[in-house]
Amino acid sequence: MSQPLLQLTGISRSFTAGDREFLALKNINLSIQAGEMVAITGASGSGKSTLMNILGCLDYATAGSYQVNGRETRDLDDQALAELRRDYFGFIFQRYHLLPHLNAMHNVEMPAIYAGTPESKRHQRARELLARLGLSGHLDHRPNQLSGGQQQRVSIARALMNGGEVILADEPTGALDTSSGKEVMRILQELHAAGHTVIIVTHDPKVAANAERIIEVRDGEIVSDRANQRPADEAPSEPPVTPRPAGARRLVASLGLFKEAFVMAWVALISHRMRTLLTMLGIVIGITSVVSIVAIGEGAKRYVLKDIQAIGSNTIDIFPGASFGDSRAAVIQTLMPADVVALNQLYYVDSATPMVGRNLLLRYGNIDLNATVNGVSHLYFQVRDIKLAAGIAFSENDARRQAQVVVIDHNTRNRLFGPDVDPLGQVILVGNLPCTVIGVTRENKNMFAASNLLNVWLPYETAAGRVLGQRHLDSISVRIKDGQPSKVVEEHVQKLMTQRHGTKDFFTNNLDSIMQTVQRTSRSLALLLSLIAVISLVVGGIGVMNIMLVSVTERTREIGIRMAVGARQSDIRQQFLVEAVMVCLIGGAIGIALSFSIGYLFTLFIKEWEMVFSMGSIITAFACSTLIGIVFGFVPARNAARLDPIEALARD
Ligand code: ADP
Ligand code: MG
Repeated sequence: MSQPLLQLTGISRSFTAGDREFLALKNINLSIQAGEMVAITGASGSGKSTLMNILGCLDYATAGSYQVNGRETRDLDDQALAELRRDYFGFIFQRYHLLPHLNAMHNVEMPAIYAGTPESKRHQRARELLARLGLSGHLDHRPNQLSGGQQQRVSIARALMNGGEVILADEPTGALDTSSGKEVMRILQELHAAGHTVIIVTHDPKVAANAERIIEVRDGEIVSDRANQRPADEAPSEPPVTPRPAGARRLVASLGLFKEAFVMAWVALISHRMRTLLTMLGIVIGITSVVSIVAIGEGAKRYVLKDIQAIGSNTIDIFPGASFGDSRAAVIQTLMPADVVALNQLYYVDSATPMVGRNLLLRYGNIDLNATVNGVSHLYFQVRDIKLAAGIAFSENDARRQAQVVVIDHNTRNRLFGPDVDPLGQVILVGNLPCTVIGVTRENKNMFAASNLLNVWLPYETAAGRVLGQRHLDSISVRIKDGQPSKVVEEHVQKLMTQRHGTKDFFTNNLDSIMQTVQRTSRSLALLLSLIAVISLVVGGIGVMNIMLVSVTERTREIGIRMAVGARQSDIRQQFLVEAVMVCLIGGAIGIALSFSIGYLFTLFIKEWEMVFSMGSIITAFACSTLIGIVFGFVPARNAARLDPIEALARD
């Protein structure tokens, strides 16, 4: 006799129920040849299913040796056992064990998915098998749309999908009416005739009578093993097809599996829409808040920085004394127009202007106003980036001849002239000096500008010589060339001034430091808000984990079925991980969409500034979602992968 296909030697299987051991199988010796049709019979509880599960490598023996095609299974790891199940065995269960949310085609294809068979081949074979079993018209039906007999035929097709060299049928007719039962037995007969090894577990002697060999089990022991006379076999109609993935196709197969994991995850998610939505909620809220908060923070920062820039972050002001509020400053009279000339020659300096200023009375007609009168150079408006609304600023020439011309600001214009008079060309008294108005500055909308100040500007020479009667300057404003580092320029300016004065009797003030403060503040604010957002994301992730754990428990039977048809632990783990990541990614996408809608609403209600969405924050949001999916999906996925297929299948 040739080497048996299945060889059990001294197999025992014990279960621990509570604190006592129970021997379900006792020292079983059995060999089954390829192509045999065997019935295992016995009373309920005698150990038939346990024996069958061991034969199908779904369960393991606690003692003894089991060889499949000469290969010892005791030494195989989980992955190798899964591959053995996948490639050799086809299971048929009493309760069909089809996946309820998949149609007949997809159920039949499942073993081939785990075997890495290409999609087109898979479809074709599933269609052929279903047609052979008379189910051509039911490819798209789900199990609950099929009768018991039809479901059992679908499960037979599934068992044959990868070849099904050995068909293991556990009470295949147990749940069927007589005629469907007969039909299933006829199919099993045909498969046997076609060369498949068929092992049927049954307590029904009439079913057992179909086999050519009947093994009777009682209390975990084989009590008889005899040949059975039965009607002669029909001629083999078709040899068994056993497509097995070659090693070289491994990578393609695993890529295909990954894609299938996505499809399966998607099907699982949409078949529980409400639960999926609730699972996502935490992630949606988390991502929405992260993206919105970052966008609001960025928008606010830009708004503030823009205003600071408008008043000139690239200017350095030089004042007499040691610092603001220095009581000696009033008597230090060393800032001179010559300093301005020297500063203007520095490479880094775009322009520098002297400043003198005092509060003086302005008069036009019978209106008196107290305003700040500033003496500045023609460069002042350039230094301070002040734009004119009407007229022109004074020129270098005006300054040289101490022209009696004045530029007034928006507020002064309104107070002196009202809305109806054109101020240009009018003569006003500045102190006691009559000056012609030649320009009006634009209204300053800057958030840092006091809106009710009154300012007028005269050429420095005019102001110093004819109005104020002083030679020294109150301050000097220096505009830095674009692109030059303000810190360095400030140092250069200080060095030059100290050299000229022989001592440091002045101080400088740079708006850049304010800007840096704003930036620092907004950074720490963003950090704080991000922390809150991260907390909400973690809470969302825990939500995902929680529901996934429930889902694993709920889908225990599904996991058992998948393992029975050949899914490896890694396949199951991958599937649940993909599901978790998918939930999180969809949640993240919804969150991003939501925060864009918030941004849109924001522009409807707040005109001054807008939320600024950056590509970075969106990418970060997706990365966070994926990470949360992986981190919080890990434990549920691991739990799913660790399930024992037998226990998982027993669960209802
Ligand atoms: P059969 O299929 O012949 O009805 P089984 O093989 O299912 O019987 O069970 C044989 C014996 O082993 C029964 O007494 C059953 O209670 C016990 N048994 C089966 N599976 C387990 C298990 N997972 N834990 C404990 N006892 C079990
Ligand atoms: Mg049983």
